[in-house]
Amino acid sequence: MKGAERIEIDRRYCKGCLLCQYVCKYEVFEPGQERSALDYLMPRPAKLENCRVCLLCQTHCPDMALVVVAGKNLTAESAKNAEKNDSNSKIAHKKIVTL
Ligand code: SF4
Ligand code: SF4
Repeated sequence: MKGAERIEIDRRYCKGCLLCQYVCKYEVFEPGQERSALDYLMPRPAKLENCRVCLLCQTHCPDMALVVVAGKNLTAESAKNAEKNDSNSKIAHKKIVTL
């Protein structure tokens, strides 16, 4: 199964809570050394090859600071998950914007 091409963490918003690391079942993240704009230590997607593009990390990030970019050879099941979670995340975004 092919996973993510990359995982982007927006250093403007990351608060270093490591919730993304906590929810990931595939141990993709580890605590990193780079600091965010808010001066928190950010996680590092150290084992990107383990990623299954379930998007749990992306949907659980309280600051919407994390985006999983799917690889080209994504399987149908992962693509479905990605699409579903992406639309959930867009709905969540919309709700926050319209609050
Ligand atoms: S869940 Fe979001 S805010 Fe928390 S460490 Fe991960 S990327 Fe940063
Ligand atoms: S998409 Fe899923 S497998 Fe990939 S890093 Fe996030 S939680 Fe882990």
